[in-house]
Amino acid sequence: MSITQSPLTEQPNTWQEAVKQLITCPTALLQFLELQPSQLDWQIDKHFPLRVSMSFAAKMQKANPQDPLLRQVLSSKEESLPTHNYTEDPLQEKAVNPIPGVLHKFKSRILLTLTQSCPVHCRYCFRRYFPYEANRVSTKTWPAIKAYLQADPGIQEIVLSGGDPLMLPDERIGEFLAYLEDVQHIKIIRFHTRFPIIIPERVTPHFVNMLNQSRFKKIMIYHVNHAQELCATIKAGVSLLQQAQIPVLNQSVLLKDVNDKAQTLIDLSWQLFAHGILPYYVHLLDAVQGTGHFAVDKTQAFALEQSLRHHLPGYLVPKFVKEVPGEPAKVPL
Ligand SMILES: *Cc1c(COP(=O)(O)O)cnc(C)c1O
Ligand code: SF4
Repeated sequence: MSITQSPLTEQPNTWQEAVKQLITCPTALLQFLELQPSQLDWQIDKHFPLRVSMSFAAKMQKANPQDPLLRQVLSSKEESLPTHNYTEDPLQEKAVNPIPGVLHKFKSRILLTLTQSCPVHCRYCFRRYFPYEANRVSTKTWPAIKAYLQADPGIQEIVLSGGDPLMLPDERIGEFLAYLEDVQHIKIIRFHTRFPIIIPERVTPHFVNMLNQSRFKKIMIYHVNHAQELCATIKAGVSLLQQAQIPVLNQSVLLKDVNDKAQTLIDLSWQLFAHGILPYYVHLLDAVQGTGHFAVDKTQAFALEQSLRHHLPGYLVPKFVKEVPGEPAKVPL
């Protein structure tokens, strides 16, 4: 039998191929969107360059310089504006970083940065200046992480965050979970991920089978900011997870000119529900340098939350929260 080459398609058909084909050239993106470079106030950022998938770009509206998805990924000249009180480490995460890869801020759970990379560079990212190099996790640092967990029986949950934990191959994630299984007081593994939104093909039967091998209870927190980011492939992935009793929740970041209108957030909640996902948090933007143009003030955020309460069933109203350094949990508005 001869092997026939599959025809070239515009969309890559595995998530690994999609990662290889990430868009990194702003002019190529603008061309794809049928936009003239002069229609937007964009810039090249060498430190935190453009990175986005073809499938996410395909969800953007052509010829719309104000597209809410484009605004999340294309660097704007506004990033260079000086912003009062905006710093590189507004959450003072360096103070709660006891060993490489571990952020231990809240009592019952720790956050692990297993990888440094994401399939997308979100312009508002609160970890864009995070010292990932000093927090590099590898099989060499796993024993230190395990020892840290063993020393604190109060820790019941591990939040895998990022970078995006789903950048790792299934086998590596599986090995890590298996490695931690004998720490008896760990009950739950939580994934914080934007990967299935950027590359929806990531959630495969292979991935879910790998999760099923682990004794831990699993939960996924997706990161969707706008209803336009959702699609049938995302829904199919959620359905696979649900068949394995893995709940899927969502957190958003409140972003000016992306999702700062009540109707946008109401649509988002309904569409999340239609895709099998429940809203969890809406985060107020952290004061990270270069993100001031995304800020929504507290008064407006409060009004938005009120409006959501008035228009949505209680189970579709996300909690509006802010991260305050030193607080024992995220702080409600
Ligand atoms: C947000 C966060 C968590 C998880 O908080 P929940 O309120 O349980 O979702 C855990 N650790 C760190 C360091 C965090 O920033
Ligand atoms: S996916 Fe999350 S961690 Fe990665 S760039 Fe976007 S906001 Fe930052």
